[in-house]
Amino acid sequence: MNGRLAGKVSIVTGAGTGIGEAITHKFAREGAKVLAVGLNGDPIDDVVNAVNAAGGDCQGFIGDVSEPELAQAAVKAGLQQYGRLDVLVNNAGVFLEVAECQDYSLEAFDTTLLSNTRAVFLMTKYALPHLQQSHGVVLATGSEAGAIGEPNNAPYGGTKGFVHAFIRGLAVEQGKYGVRANCVCPGPVDTAWTHTDTGPMDEQMEKMTVEATVLGRRGTPEEIANVYAFLASDEASNVTGALWFADGGTLVAKGPMGAMVPDELRRQPEPSLPLQHSHDGLGNKPTTNRLGTH
Ligand code: NAD
Repeated sequence: MNGRLAGKVSIVTGAGTGIGEAITHKFAREGAKVLAVGLNGDPIDDVVNAVNAAGGDCQGFIGDVSEPELAQAAVKAGLQQYGRLDVLVNNAGVFLEVAECQDYSLEAFDTTLLSNTRAVFLMTKYALPHLQQSHGVVLATGSEAGAIGEPNNAPYGGTKGFVHAFIRGLAVEQGKYGVRANCVCPGPVDTAWTHTDTGPMDEQMEKMTVEATVLGRRGTPEEIANVYAFLASDEASNVTGALWFADGGTLVAKGPMGAMVPDELRRQPEPSLPLQHSHDGLGNKPTTNRLGTH
């Protein structure tokens, strides 16, 4: 396939649902070969089949990449399949519980740290030697919550703050190897997490989250994937150490600005990617599991 990512090999974590599914489709459409990584129970096979049916080149890997040996196995699987690595997308993450800190469970805290921070560190650690060879790119999913915090899921905002600083430090130390590192920082996106029926947010939090955007609506997974495609491409060859906010203006809003946006301007753009699992999220599957197949 021709496109901005033609000839590049990428690994996308959390690729079975939500934003990761969109990144996988977008990258393949732009010509990248993609190893799609997800937890056991994620619809990785569906995504792989849909991408390949559309003319892309995608393989799956099932495993919890917050486990060192599975992160290592995921990188190895990509190399065995495609012979090189140009782009690592650390997109996998969890948003497990909505509770004030005094009530927040230790279990959710530990799992949030594993998937949102340790997995990013491990995947990056094992991918870097290969990215140094290809002069590649590390991308990671931060969040406006990493900059301004997340009330009622304060640990989540904390993990995204880690991702922001981790990527900036990485950008500085890895420039001498020709490796770029950038963070995409979404605001509320139209995936499972931001809807009361598919995620832990209650109605008040859902309403406040959407109204806190300047644009008065959630972003779409495809809108976020578009930013990833740019940052992964050679068009972004002078961009490193960036926190690239694609948050509908949440970071700069000084109140519920979204409530002032008329309904007709709140409409999301029509999708062009054939997404099937935008709202599947974590469902009821376990958030840590080992496995390691592809
Ligand atoms: P999602 O639940 O649809 O996708 C996350 C995927 O990651 C899931 O398929 C999950 O199974 C997978 N995953 C989680 N931990 C994993 C692990 N240890 N190993 C392998 N796979 C794992 O959610 P989403 O909304 O698409 O979120 C994707 C990323 O975007 C996350 O990092 C999230 O923090 C970030 N983000 C989302 C929003 C939003 O509003 N949805 C806003 C800002 C940032």
